[in-house]
Amino acid sequence: MTPDNTSNRSIIAVANQKGGVGKTTTTINLGAALAEQGKRVLLIDLDPQGNASTGLGVGQDMREITAYDVLSGEASIADAAQNTTVENLDIVPATTDLSSADIELGDNPNRSFLLREALKDDDIDSPNYDYILIDCPPSLNILTVNAMVAAHSIIVPLQSEFFALEGLSQLILTVRDVRQTANPDLKIVGIALTMYDQRNNLSLQVEEDARENMGDMVFKTVIPRNVRLSEAPSFAIPVLTYDSQSKGSTAYRALAQEVIERTSQKKAA
Ligand code: ATP
Ligand code: MG
Repeated sequence: MTPDNTSNRSIIAVANQKGGVGKTTTTINLGAALAEQGKRVLLIDLDPQGNASTGLGVGQDMREITAYDVLSGEASIADAAQNTTVENLDIVPATTDLSSADIELGDNPNRSFLLREALKDDDIDSPNYDYILIDCPPSLNILTVNAMVAAHSIIVPLQSEFFALEGLSQLILTVRDVRQTANPDLKIVGIALTMYDQRNNLSLQVEEDARENMGDMVFKTVIPRNVRLSEAPSFAIPVLTYDSQSKGSTAYRALAQEVIERTSQKKAA
């Protein structure tokens, strides 16, 4: 049993158990860049912090049907998905309820497969999303495992800081474990270096280490440290809307292009 392969849809989990490395920023802005290219995109906020929801203008009072309802089988993805201000970009929002999912799912034998099952529901064939991006929490908990079991592939944001590569081996072990138990075809689309500062030796060093150790798995595009990227969420819009010509916007457009190339190669293979 593998994730839904009946359509051309590509399901990608954005994961790294390290906090604050740019998972949510990448999910939102990669999603917006894919949508700008005319792709139909659904973001699933699988983090109880709900940062992707907030960053796309879905405030607490607008989160009636959420990822928690989807995992607990109370709602379908189609019920939970809502439009954002960005054309072609929908979101399933998250609330803090999701943090109790870990405990509540404890003895359910199907606990790792809940998101995959929900994504198989025919309802989401309209509007027939091309990309489904899942924003994971900073942990390798059951929520992240649900994302990895449901996905075709994962993107790993890696902050261009000291210790960036630490923890990556643990993440890769989890990927292996998911491959062995539930999702043999799970791929890593790529590792994205984030908050890159080319004037900082440390960024250069992290990039060199990453490319030396992981080769082509590292995206050619690096995401620069850019203040516009950190400002955009407080206006509840992606940086592509907030400042379309910013370095952050340009970088996420380039990353989207690489993701399109890498995921369509996968389909052809
Ligand atoms: P968490 O693990 O808490 O979910 P995360 O991995 O999702 O965090 P983000 O929320 O995307 O990380 O980013 C952490 C902080 O860094 C945020 O304040 C964000 O605005 C900022 N940030 C992310 N990427 C960049 C960037 N390229 N340039 C400047 N600031 C950035
Ligand atoms: Mg986040």
